[in-house]
Amino acid sequence: MKASLINLANRKNNASGEIVAFGQEQRKKELLENIIPPQYAENHIKRTCHIHDLEYYDVTYNCIGISVENLIGNKTRSFRSMLSALHRAIVELTNLQSGGIGIINFDSDIAMYLKDEDDSEIIKSFKDFFINLNICTRKGCEKPYVTFNFGLDTSMKGQRVSTLMLDAYLTGDEDGNPFIFPNLVFKLKSGVNIEPDTPNYALYMKSLSVTAKRMVPTYFNCDSKINRDYASSRIGIMGCRSRVVSNINGREGSLNRGNVASVTLNLVQMAYQAVGNFTLFYSILDANMKAAKELLLHRFETLISNGLFADYYDRGYYLDADVHDARKMLKNGTLSIGFIGLWDAVAVMCGIDSLSIEDINKYYEEAYGIIEHMRTFIDKCTDEEGLNFSLLASAAEGVTGSFAKYDEEHLGREFTACKKGFYTNSFHVPVGLEVNYRKKIDIESNFHKLCNGGSITYVEMKEMPCGNIEAVQEIVEYAYSHDCNYIGINFPMDNCLDCGYVGRVAGRCPKCNSENIRRLRRVSGYLAEENCFTKGKRKELMERKVHYINGMAD
Ligand SMILES: [Zn+2]
Repeated sequence: MKASLINLANRKNNASGEIVAFGQEQRKKELLENIIPPQYAENHIKRTCHIHDLEYYDVTYNCIGISVENLIGNKTRSFRSMLSALHRAIVELTNLQSGGIGIINFDSDIAMYLKDEDDSEIIKSFKDFFINLNICTRKGCEKPYVTFNFGLDTSMKGQRVSTLMLDAYLTGDEDGNPFIFPNLVFKLKSGVNIEPDTPNYALYMKSLSVTAKRMVPTYFNCDSKINRDYASSRIGIMGCRSRVVSNINGREGSLNRGNVASVTLNLVQMAYQAVGNFTLFYSILDANMKAAKELLLHRFETLISNGLFADYYDRGYYLDADVHDARKMLKNGTLSIGFIGLWDAVAVMCGIDSLSIEDINKYYEEAYGIIEHMRTFIDKCTDEEGLNFSLLASAAEGVTGSFAKYDEEHLGREFTACKKGFYTNSFHVPVGLEVNYRKKIDIESNFHKLCNGGSITYVEMKEMPCGNIEAVQEIVEYAYSHDCNYIGINFPMDNCLDCGYVGRVAGRCPKCNSENIRRLRRVSGYLAEENCFTKGKRKELMERKVHYINGMAD
């Protein structure tokens, strides 16, 4: 058994991890050979359409949005024992599904448990909770993918619990090392926390100061065009970027439902097959989207007949689970068709080796047209099938490199896009392009409203902006006012595991001279250690250019 089977940033190379990785490969093989219809299996193998969480194909859904009460009931408990109960519930739930858990209103869900504890007791409880969440309790080799959305509770208890949670997150574990999980998402909302005279402005400022040191929280825009018509208490992020909001089959919003399954289409491969001919490109894209839809429908039916959902029926985690009918339950979820490499595909189509900003301006309509076309197709699927199809701006952590590698080996041509070793995340501006953050946001923001299944815009900073909260605020608010749905700020975060120092470490720790350095980065939704990244992601990391240099935004 080779460790090379390990291909996720969040997987520990322990004994369980080896066994799990081996088992997963066997399952995938069996599913591709015996369960999945050959034409869709072939699309997966040829890296045309990647089936995410393939090993779970006939077992369970992807992610869920949920409340604390759903997870632990409403029994009277102390704050500390509430967090212990929540940890146990998260461990159970993460092993019932393939993807992330998003608690949609973490602040108001837990505020009511505050009694007469002092601040230090609460911080200690949070720290212990976070330490527990960073143990590999998922399959014995992964941390549970959990996201806590917060920021809207304006009650005194709500503000206090959020503030102390940020304090605990910032101070890190017993040795002062940063936490990787949970992923914290601050919900931005006008009248609640963005303007200086709003009740949670101070909390927002505090959140920005933590982002400036830990890259977390990220920011969810409750006021964007596609979010503003929904009650902000009912929407939030689950998993690394999944957005589950509208529902043609029942209650809308992100609670008690999630993404059932997703695939990612390789736009670059289609561009190679159609170089220069947009008519041909669109006909290939249409055929692949149709196949993606059929595959998702096949998976949906397979899950209904085969899925392990008894636990959901008992606990009522999922909408309509009480009727003990997998179809009624999963009809509330989404089926997502995702894409990666939009700008790489445009470059190939237009015969450009390396896109410049001028090229992006010139071919913007072509790029936008592709995504708009995909969204139109997806809305048609929703109408025709009576299921919630959505368009996902995929992070595709596992495929960014494997798509490029396959295409380089099999298309037999010398294309720059695949030679660089990875394809660019969703609609993101090529990471190697020097562009200031405003221009980056200007280019990406329009795509957010098309990607109703989830999207994120990242701005890369050269170094940790700890002393410069204004810079973080400027970026977040520029993205907010330009209609980005979800915003993250990245910078290199090195962590000395001997003394807890956090900052940029070139060689040895500047504080204790240790060489035991953990390099935390974010390339696909969650923080992760650089040495765990896939080859493609590592290549992407090396190419990344900065969009904001302190004091030199333009
Ligand atoms: Zn040190």
